[in-house]
Amino acid sequence: MGGRIKRELKTLETMVHMYCQSERHADGALCDECAELLRYAVRRLESCRFKEKKKICGKCTVHCYKTEYRQRIRLVMRTVGPKMLYRHPVMLLGHAVDMLRY
Ligand SMILES: [Zn+2]
Repeated sequence: MGGRIKRELKTLETMVHMYCQSERHADGALCDECAELLRYAVRRLESCRFKEKKKICGKCTVHCYKTEYRQRIRLVMRTVGPKMLYRHPVMLLGHAVDMLRY
């Protein structure tokens, strides 16, 4: 697993946690729904055949999600994207930026 994928996993994890907390689903830990979404996203990322070669992985990732999860992950991106810019600007250098634009 390369550096880019690790960075994306970390970004995904952070974003889902921030989303769950900002929506007050649960105290502290992830609620079941968000935990499931994160597990799904991680699986997609790990099973992506293009991985390191992909330039715009955000598009690829969003496309290979099932509709239900795609909508949920995009809601997460929209909700916490602006906060990420402020709190974790370095992470946004990864593909999260592509996802937000997409
Ligand atoms: Zn949640």
